[in-house]
Formats: sequence, C-alpha cells, structure tokens
Amino acid sequence: MRRGSWKIRIFIGLAIVAFAFIQKCSNTEENPYTGRSQHITMSADQEIAIGLQSAPEMAQQHGGLYPDQRLQAFVESVGNKLVQNSIARETPYQYDFHLLADDQTINAFALPGGQCFITYALFSQLNEAQLAGVLGHEIGHVIGRHSAERIADSQTWQTATMGATVGAGDMGSILGSIGQNTLLKNGRGDELESDELGVLFMIQSGYDPYEMIKVMEILKTAAGPNRTPEFQSTHPDPENRIAKIKEAIDKYKNQG
Ligand SMILES: [Zn+2]
Repeated sequence: MRRGSWKIRIFIGLAIVAFAFIQKCSNTEENPYTGRSQHITMSADQEIAIGLQSAPEMAQQHGGLYPDQRLQAFVESVGNKLVQNSIARETPYQYDFHLLADDQTINAFALPGGQCFITYALFSQLNEAQLAGVLGHEIGHVIGRHSAERIADSQTWQTATMGATVGAGDMGSILGSIGQNTLLKNGRGDELESDELGVLFMIQSGYDPYEMIKVMEILKTAAGPNRTPEFQSTHPDPENRIAKIKEAIDKYKNQG
C-alpha cells in the first residue's frame, strides 16, 4: 500500500513537471521587434496595464518625480525622439519617460508596457547623448518584453518545482535553485539585448553611439566599492557590456 502511494506521488510529480514544460513550449512566440523567440504568458495590453498600475508606486519609492518641469520635459523629449525614429513607434506600447527625484541612487529602469524611469542621481551625470543611451536601453527592455518573459519563466519554475517536490521531496529545492540561476542568467542576457537595441536607437536618432560606452564607464565608477551582490548577479560585468556594445556599434553603424 505504501509502495503504491509512493508511485502515485512520483507519477503526479512528473505530470506537474511535464505540464510546466508543455505549457512553456506552447507559450513560446517570436518577438516581432527583436526576432527572438521567447516564452510569454501575457498580452501587450496586460503589460501596459501592469506598467501603468505600478508606475506611481515605483516613482514613490524614489522620492517621487523630480519637481523641475523643464527637466521632465527634456527627458520626455529625448525619450520620444528615440521612439519616433525607431521600431518602438510601431509597437503597441505607451512610452512615458520620468525623471525621479532620487539624487542618491544611480539607477534607471523600465516597467512592462513602456513606463521608463531615470533617477536624478544618474541623470545629473549624463550629457544628452548618454541620456539617450540610457533611455534607449530602457526602451530595449520594453520592446524585448523582458519583464513579461521573466514572469513567465518564474511561473514555469514554480510549477516545475512544485511538481518535483510532490514527486521526490528534495529534488524540488534542487530544481528551484537551478531555476533561480537560470532566471539570473537570462537577466544578464536581457541587459546585453537592451544595450544592443539602445545602440541601434541612438544611431537612428542621430546620437553618437560611442557615448553608450561612456555610460558604462559612469556606471562602473558609480558602482565602485559599494557595488552590491545583487547588482553583480543581475548585471553583466561592465567590461563585458562594453565589448558587446562595440560589436553592436560595428554592426549598426552603417545602417543609421
Ligand atoms: Zn537594463
């Protein structure tokens, strides 16, 4: 009797793991803007809704929006220029570019669906072309649908881990940690893809793409000895990024 229930447990566990991966395969689609095939479980409308819903809270976490309307308008105009001159214009996303009041944290990020942010701490160190590089990189995250892809991947791993836990106890936590590493590694891939798209958008808007390399140097200096483990695990080494950015410049320079 005990033996039988053990077999059933393994069977159910395997079925859950199999379900997770079949679902992953059936939700794989090619991104029309990057040509990369990816695992996505939400629509563009859902991405936009999530982004719009979380935007006020994200702004609040960074001290709200920077109060100077002139600088807000400047960030918005550089962002819009990148959108209007690139494939971003043809996507369903609603782009908004916000300058955050935070003057301590060097950061920029994008929410799914087009809400892009840069902190004053980073903004204040950049010239216009470098700002275009940072915003182009963030538009790259939106077009690359990186958040939606991470959400879909973590759903798969959660389901698979649950299956493995049901089926074979400790296997669940092993699979869980493999999933964690995979998500982090994909996170690094996201950064490289966004850097490449950022370079392309800079060229298409008439900015000097070599300024993107200066952005990396600014980030490297800013990270300094205070670089956190989280930063290290989710961001590729700036040197590695610079090498890839140079490759992207060579690739796109003659297409601008
Ligand atoms: Zn990024």
